[in-house]
Amino acid sequence: MKNNPVYVTSPLLPPLADFMPYLENIWQNRWLTNNGPFHQQLEQALGNYLGCPHISLFANGTLALLCAIQALGLTGEVITTPYSFVATSHSLVWNNLQPVFVDIDPLTGNIDAEKIEQAITPATSAILPVHCYGIPADVTRINALARRRGLKVIYDAAHAFGVERNRASILNQGDLSVLSFHATKVFNTFEGGAIVCPDRESKQAIDRLKNFGFAGETAVESLGINGKMNELQAAFGLLQLQRIDEALSQRKAIYQRYRRALSAVAGLEMVTPAPHISWNYAYFPLYVRADFPCSRDALYARLRDDGIMARRYFYPLISDFPLYASHPSARAGNLPVARRLADQVICLPIYPGLAASQQQRVIQLILALADERASHHRRQRR
Ligand SMILES: *Cc1c(COP(=O)(O)O)cnc(C)c1O
Repeated sequence: MKNNPVYVTSPLLPPLADFMPYLENIWQNRWLTNNGPFHQQLEQALGNYLGCPHISLFANGTLALLCAIQALGLTGEVITTPYSFVATSHSLVWNNLQPVFVDIDPLTGNIDAEKIEQAITPATSAILPVHCYGIPADVTRINALARRRGLKVIYDAAHAFGVERNRASILNQGDLSVLSFHATKVFNTFEGGAIVCPDRESKQAIDRLKNFGFAGETAVESLGINGKMNELQAAFGLLQLQRIDEALSQRKAIYQRYRRALSAVAGLEMVTPAPHISWNYAYFPLYVRADFPCSRDALYARLRDDGIMARRYFYPLISDFPLYASHPSARAGNLPVARRLADQVICLPIYPGLAASQQQRVIQLILALADERASHHRRQRR
């Protein structure tokens, strides 16, 4: 009998019965979208939970990225990472900006802050780093460099829900930070997103931007789009927020089990957050280095054969998609670390509700592969 498939993530879904009172409330109010009561409550509740008082909710993370870029009035070139979900670069191109790719750190997958400065040209207006896997980018260096060179910084914090650095939210870094609440993320509203703003004025400007530019009942004073989150999404977010701490601690327990089982295996490497980081364990990236008995793709295929749907985040690099491949910064010689990581990374299943037995299946397969090949080599040497 074929094993049930195990996916790399599975959405946090509270019992349906718990959602019914929210639905009844919406039906009673007949207020479906446009800054309704649940929308207002969720902005408040997330602000409190995350430690970011000025949050503007969006229909999805990509619209939030588009509007964050639009709000800062960026021009020309923006320095970013090739090692991300494609929405990061797409949001620049959609705003008529040119992404400039900079190489990454070999363990965190974050943009290499040391290499940003040499990519700055007179056309550069901003830096768009990603907190890859929820692990903070080097915000100290990046913010200082941006200040010195007069650049804006937008953090793509799609993976970084609830992440703290020195006991403060990572989401307050830079000029703006952008969250995604997509179904596959740590906290979801089916689809959804948010911009974390530094103050009331910038939130107000962004609230207008996501609502066609309306500044009053009849006044449209600037360009805008429809980026609004609706009441169903917001209600679901409120419900989910009640269980987020439990979800995060389950993720941590799964991370620790992988670590204990796999950290001594030759040729495998994994990310360890620094002690001053409070991580959300959003992903479990495993790096299959050259001294592991088989390639990342062989491991990936073996897991798939057994119904374990691991994912290669992030492969291919954004800079390898046809839309980007001809950019000067996309050439292979500019991005050696990103290229290597894209060929070595595999993300293992990690989500609240992942059964210990399922995780054990993943671990056993990897250990067997490490062992099979090792004993094969031993036999050959005899
Ligand atoms: C998920 C994701 C996005 C896009 O968010 P959506 O809510 O799916 O539009 C952007 N950047 C990164 C790094 C992501 O992982």
